[in-house]
Amino acid sequence: MSELDHSSAKPKPWWQRLPLTVQIIIALVLAVALGIALGAGNPSPSNAALIQNLAIPAELILKALRALATPLILVAVLHTFMTTNIPGTAGRRLAVLLLTNTTVAIIIGLLVANILQPGTWGKLPSPDNPTGSNGNFDPWGLLKDAVPEAVLKPLVDNNVIQLIVIALCFGIVLRGLKSEQIAQGQRGYQSIEDVIAILFDAVIRILNWVIALVPLAVFGIVAKIIAEKGFAPFQSLAAFIVAVLTALCLQGCYYLTRVKFGSWVNPIKFLTGGADAFLTAFSTSSSTVTMPLTFEVLQTKIGLRESSASLGALVGANFNNDGTALYEAMSALYIAQVTEQHLNLGQQLVVVLTSIFASVGAAGIPNAGLVTMTLVFTSVGLRTDYIAVLITVDWFLDRCRTAINVMGDMTVSAVLDGKRPRSQDDEAKFLDHDNG
Ligand code: ASP
Repeated sequence: MSELDHSSAKPKPWWQRLPLTVQIIIALVLAVALGIALGAGNPSPSNAALIQNLAIPAELILKALRALATPLILVAVLHTFMTTNIPGTAGRRLAVLLLTNTTVAIIIGLLVANILQPGTWGKLPSPDNPTGSNGNFDPWGLLKDAVPEAVLKPLVDNNVIQLIVIALCFGIVLRGLKSEQIAQGQRGYQSIEDVIAILFDAVIRILNWVIALVPLAVFGIVAKIIAEKGFAPFQSLAAFIVAVLTALCLQGCYYLTRVKFGSWVNPIKFLTGGADAFLTAFSTSSSTVTMPLTFEVLQTKIGLRESSASLGALVGANFNNDGTALYEAMSALYIAQVTEQHLNLGQQLVVVLTSIFASVGAAGIPNAGLVTMTLVFTSVGLRTDYIAVLITVDWFLDRCRTAINVMGDMTVSAVLDGKRPRSQDDEAKFLDHDNG
């Protein structure tokens, strides 16, 4: 997250200058030591109050993430609608491609989670203050519920479907007004665009504050789990990591097949040419930060036309987050398995729908998926407080899903580029550039 934070001019203290991952690893080591010191599964009653309080930072972070989820989705969708330039026909092809890829990602995620059943490999400790309902679920009710009673109600209720309906309506209208004004030579839309851009930056900065506290939350929650239950719960989390990595690899294979049969690009060239972008995505956990590089490698190393590279990389980085969608759906199923809450087919369909929306609304920044996940959980009545436990592994899984998000954007670009490589002239230019 620090990559996106330009807010302070003063030099930061040394511990804030450590990369977030290093801070989390230090927190993990200290938490294991404290957990063992507090009993490692056999806590003494005199430490009970201290152990309970260890969960407080994670609970607070979770509340903050839930509060930020709706404004983040709203401004991210509006911002994308106002600022991206998508030509008509290519736009429709792009929309179909994005939707297919995201749906495939979620289906792969749900299949892997249903087959491997990571939530049954071990028990997770139940959070102390249950939040989120376990009430009966009615898919038709959800559909009827898609239109909110008041414009601001979805923001208050954290209702993702209603929120996306509002965001899409306003996004489409604002975009239309902008084109009309441009056609008439007016610039009145500019102030609205500026306000949305500023709000977007503001939400992300507040999110940065919350994310800066993640190491503290990881420390508290891991120490508490070890103190109370020993190391057994981590077996279940390890199974979840294996399941997510398996599903992400399958999604990567799907992309390569798509590139092979849907474009002129050789999948090996796609992998080697895109390596810089994948590694940058992995190391920054941000597809937005990686975006300029994605755009660059698509043109110079893989040799796509500029128009396809820009559509996939620039629009995709905003809207297309297949790795995030897959992860959100798998997390929902995993927690359902852990809590022995059976999600029927209808509910899994709602998970598919809300995960698509949540991934569209997730900005391309570190941990954004964790924020919008609260909305997926709420839509099927899962307890969102279990997300606190997922925070302990998110720092690693975020990197992996970001690499897949970027690979997804690149796949879309390759398929949009079609079956025919750039002309001989273009090819010659490309070789010159590549050698130079
Ligand atoms: N970090 C991801 C990205 O930048 C978003 C997420 O948290 O899933 O693409």
